Amino acid sequence: MANRYVYGFDEPTTGGRELLGGKGIGLAEMTQMGVPVPQGFTITTDACRAYMQERDLPDGLPDEVDEHVRRLEQRTGKRFGSDDDPLLVSVRSGAAVSMPGMMDTILNLGLNDEATEGLAARTDNPRFAYDSYRRLIQMFGEVVEGIDGHRFESALGSLKQARGAAQDTDLGPDDLRELVATYKGIYREETGTDFPTGARDQLLRAVRAVFASWDNPRAQVYRRAHEIADDLGTAVNVVQMVFGNKGDRSGTGVAFTRDPSTGATGLYGEFLANAQGEDVVAGIRTPQPIETMRSSLPKPFEQLLDTMRRLEEHYRDMQDIEFTVEDEQLYLLQTRSAKRTAAAALKAAVAMVEEGLIAREDAVGRIDPAQLDQLLHPMIDPKASLEVAAKGLNASPGAASGAIVFDADTAVERAKTGPVILVRWETTPDDIHGMIAAQGILTVHGGMTSHAAVVARGMGKPCVAGCDDLTLGDGGARIGEHSLQEGDVITIDGGTGRVFVGEVPLVPPQINEDFETILGWADEQRRLRVRANADNPEDATRAREFGAEGIGLCRTEHMFFGDRLPVVQEMILAETESGRRAALDRLLPFQQSDFEGIFEAMAGLPVTIRLLDPPLHEFLPAEHEATDDKLRARIRALQESNPMLGTRGCRLGLMYPEIYEMQVRAIARAAKAVQERTGDAPLVEVMHPLVGFREELARLRNLTESVWSEEAPEVEHLVGTMIEVPRAALRADEIAEVADFFSFGTNDLTQTTLAFSRDDAEGKFLTRYLEDGVLERNPFEVLDIEGVGDLMRIAVERGRSTKPEIKLGICGEHGGEPRSIAFCHELGLDYVSCSPFRVPLARLAAAQAALRESGAGSYVSAGG
Ligand code: PEP
Ligand code: MG
Repeated sequence: MANRYVYGFDEPTTGGRELLGGKGIGLAEMTQMGVPVPQGFTITTDACRAYMQERDLPDGLPDEVDEHVRRLEQRTGKRFGSDDDPLLVSVRSGAAVSMPGMMDTILNLGLNDEATEGLAARTDNPRFAYDSYRRLIQMFGEVVEGIDGHRFESALGSLKQARGAAQDTDLGPDDLRELVATYKGIYREETGTDFPTGARDQLLRAVRAVFASWDNPRAQVYRRAHEIADDLGTAVNVVQMVFGNKGDRSGTGVAFTRDPSTGATGLYGEFLANAQGEDVVAGIRTPQPIETMRSSLPKPFEQLLDTMRRLEEHYRDMQDIEFTVEDEQLYLLQTRSAKRTAAAALKAAVAMVEEGLIAREDAVGRIDPAQLDQLLHPMIDPKASLEVAAKGLNASPGAASGAIVFDADTAVERAKTGPVILVRWETTPDDIHGMIAAQGILTVHGGMTSHAAVVARGMGKPCVAGCDDLTLGDGGARIGEHSLQEGDVITIDGGTGRVFVGEVPLVPPQINEDFETILGWADEQRRLRVRANADNPEDATRAREFGAEGIGLCRTEHMFFGDRLPVVQEMILAETESGRRAALDRLLPFQQSDFEGIFEAMAGLPVTIRLLDPPLHEFLPAEHEATDDKLRARIRALQESNPMLGTRGCRLGLMYPEIYEMQVRAIARAAKAVQERTGDAPLVEVMHPLVGFREELARLRNLTESVWSEEAPEVEHLVGTMIEVPRAALRADEIAEVADFFSFGTNDLTQTTLAFSRDDAEGKFLTRYLEDGVLERNPFEVLDIEGVGDLMRIAVERGRSTKPEIKLGICGEHGGEPRSIAFCHELGLDYVSCSPFRVPLARLAAAQAALRESGAGSYVSAGG
């Protein structure tokens, strides 16, 4: 049999979401549940992939579409293309992964001059008929022909002005008939052809356009930003029209089963009487809270409540629906797993466990760890008394300060030099690149479900929408009392809807009760331990508050700056070893007190201290800043062509052993002092960087042990190495003979394995590689599992073959990245270590890796 491309909503298939897309699978499942859904059918993603290959509809598809249209006609008793009682359909795109606003919808297909008259007569409602027709011409013109929507909007605006109409709904049937004529004129001017009158022609052209829109630039940008594969394709749903614009007993809305900003239980949404769906989503008219339906349309409202409860029980997750009421009859047009803020995801998950809807494992499994980042950023100090310049809707939480920009291209440009806030009347999918570049988004129009709000929540960016106190014009903005220009700084607080002029003080984030609860459940599941990278007592304390179980990397070079720098420079400039030792003696007490502070903060937990790593020239000024000849000569002597591969790491320790001796002495004294003072000895792990040869570590181990036995023989400690160069991974069996632990320094291991210098790659050829698709991800952010990961696997195997009990961890930045954490779990490492703010995220990601391994609670995308 030839490929089959079309399925009715009531026809079973095993292809699921991948084949039918999110919208299609939702419509099919709702049909099966007996939820009121319009009739219709889905053209599969297979057809889209075939279209992308052939640049045309695949053979057999038009016939299948005709066949399904015939079925629709039989069921509805209307005829597609009829002049008298026309069947009208919408065409709605729907990919397997939700891409809000990326793809397009066309409503009211099947109308032409005669059919509109027929519809007007049948419904006894010419206003409705012409309103539907003008919408078709506009949407068809925009989506199929790429006509700029503003042309239609401004024609509508002029007509309203001429008639003194405040709302679209104030226009009468004759006005709309006139508008149809104007729209047809625009269509003709822009395309050189007349608006197509054949229903079948309209439908097939619309299907083509939806398929083609999969590859439009804004869809590509969105996919790149969200790591969605380019070859998934979209399905197309052809749905019998139901009309929300038939009068006051009709309307359209969107609703969530819980509040998508906070997660609070209870119906949440918006409704517009006498309107079609795109009025709400486009933010053109500001909708009413859904509660208003309770009194205006009580029966459909009750039915809506009941349906939403059923949907949530069925999907066991928070749903986001679109619905239409036609003459008091409710229809659901879409249901999907709701996009939600991180706070809402946590609250809803905890509540659902309490309600018995899901298990704890499900709750842990369905929180997106990367999204938690939203909660782990600074917020506006709740105690600060601030002048609020304007207030809008709290569309997506978080605070952001930045320079105002008024368009997406400028946002991208200016974001290269500093944070920006994108300020718009409203956003459209064409603004997507600007939204990605901006720190936050502020719009004049639009509700909680406007494009700006939905997309910002998905991206985890602060957004204030519907800010009536803001006006734009003449290249500037008025916010309340203030006149502002591009580049002026504002702060927005998407959690409260407040807008401030200038920068505003921020405070560190707090982990709330829901967050604690979920993390507590995560801790029950995970096998990996989670440590933090911290170089000072404040970071160490914060890390413990976030649940860190030790320090996996304390970089000591940070302690060589500030008021210590002159002594460090003196040490570097000394011509003899004794000169260096004299300077180091003065540094020692500083180092010791640094370590004491950290050990006390970690009260008995393991602390890995990495001895000095960077090349010495980093502590000297640039040559042209040198104030005397001696300094200049030393700077020149230390210059290297490739410092990343030069005299750094353990090479430094072997060239200038007195530096490492001082550091070990300071560590041992600090450990002893803290043990005596507090009774809690830290479990110190002395770590040597950049080792490639067994002999390097063997010598440094001797150095460490001999100093340690002089200073604190009774204090427990370990000596180990970072694995940062491929040779160390390959000869891990030999190196393990002299190491108590390995810690994968995947920042350097990525540099040395790929032969990419990070500083020369990011922002340069690597950026280009990512744009051109040579690489899918930045290997400095997400571990290169096939390459760097393979070396790690070799190191683990070989290291354990010599020393089965060897302790293994990771302290490169990948230790805080969910996919890399999952890989570390799979390798059987003992711990991951990451920056303090990422510790909660790592706890969750580690639990999810364990759950996946046991086949439970896989992560469900909130994008559904
Ligand atoms: C590493 O290389 O992964 C590492 C943690 O060390 P640094 O980033 O300090 O080079
Ligand atoms: Mg390193």
